[in-house]
Amino acid sequence: MLFSQFFAPTSKDIPADAKIASHILMLRSGMITQTASGIYCWLPLAVRVLEKITKIICEEQDRIGAQKVYFTTIQPADLWIESGRYEAYGKEMLRIKDRKDGDFLYSPTNEEQATDVFRKYVKSYRGMPVMLYQIHWKFRDEIRPRFGVMRGREFLMKDGYSFDISFEAAKETYRKIFKSYLRTFRRIGVTAIPVQADPGAIGGNMSHEFQILAETGESTLYYDRKLPTASDEELMTTFAVTDERYDPKTTPISESELMISKGIEVGHIFYFGTKYSKPMNAFVLDENGEKLYPEMGSYGIGVSRLIAAIIEASHDTRGIIWPEAVAPFDVTILNLHMKNKKCVEIAQKIYDAISLRKEVLYDDRFISVGEKLADADLIGIPYQIIIGQKKIENGIVELKNRKTGEIVEMSCEQIIARFV
Ligand code: ATP
Ligand code: MG
Repeated sequence: MLFSQFFAPTSKDIPADAKIASHILMLRSGMITQTASGIYCWLPLAVRVLEKITKIICEEQDRIGAQKVYFTTIQPADLWIESGRYEAYGKEMLRIKDRKDGDFLYSPTNEEQATDVFRKYVKSYRGMPVMLYQIHWKFRDEIRPRFGVMRGREFLMKDGYSFDISFEAAKETYRKIFKSYLRTFRRIGVTAIPVQADPGAIGGNMSHEFQILAETGESTLYYDRKLPTASDEELMTTFAVTDERYDPKTTPISESELMISKGIEVGHIFYFGTKYSKPMNAFVLDENGEKLYPEMGSYGIGVSRLIAAIIEASHDTRGIIWPEAVAPFDVTILNLHMKNKKCVEIAQKIYDAISLRKEVLYDDRFISVGEKLADADLIGIPYQIIIGQKKIENGIVELKNRKTGEIVEMSCEQIIARFV
């Protein structure tokens, strides 16, 4: 990709209404643009990151046997009246009338619809377990949308739903998802710690939130000092809770081991049994021909929030520092002197060679050296190949590691070999 043709409207200006690093950097790097309060357009740089993240999520869902679907964003109110949530959801639900005066809504989550799809087709316990998921837009009319896409009104969520024949089987599914989430976040390049959560509006009795530690997080976490080194198995029972559930009288941790930090909730998993299957009459017949109501769970990842959370956890004063797995490009080539023939020739040669194997952004714009270096640090691609007129006389280019700031000099051949 040539930067001169790339739609990435970068800016030096700090937007007045943006208060936290991720919001500022997403606006400044031209990733998002606001269209109404809490509602954003996603521009090419951001979409590249979204797609990297969704690919990892899909691969990990696949691995545990969850199958991808698309539920609908617009849903009839009737489904939600059946579950009893139509009134209970309150003002966060965006309610819509169609031309025939029918009541619809823009989905804030999909337990009802997943249950409806299940009951239409699965009639016997032999058709279970079932695990379906999607990555799709949600709308919640948040009372206070803020921090950009961190708490938006329209946001992208991975939401999954499981149907099991017994509590034991549902618990096993929960464990499988729990581990799969740890693996997913690890592959994305972030540390998300699981905390035992208050099930809240979705309800139920087994629930974990996945939290990325960051000072700007909205949740306060109380956890055991040992938590960061616990094994995946240990993490399911290690003590970690949000402040709503913390009680100094009952906490099983001594004061000296207790850690308190702010966190950003990027995932939330629930087991809620027959909370939806019973009222929605979604039953199958068991081996004796008796009614069996599936034991359900739902599993969410805030994909769009995750991007902001990654930036909160990984940036410096100059800009974003993308983890390699989800970076919008693998490497960027900065041709500092577009009017120098040698620079142009070498930059083109390196670009042609490396782009066969890697995703490369070649900054071929006619702008100042300072602006070019600043934009590269702002956008945060993990590696910068810097080509300047002095060093190129001796056949030397520089490779800069965005994270460490380390710069090494290399020949043109060496740099190609490094990435191909
Ligand atoms: P929160 O407490 O932050 O409002 P929630 O408990 O309402 O989150 P869930 O219903 O569990 O959220 O949704 C799953 C995930 O979707 C959350 O873990 C979060 O990462 C993301 N999410 C929820 N609300 C928003 C929002 N308004 N903007 C962006 N992401 C969101
Ligand atoms: Mg919420």
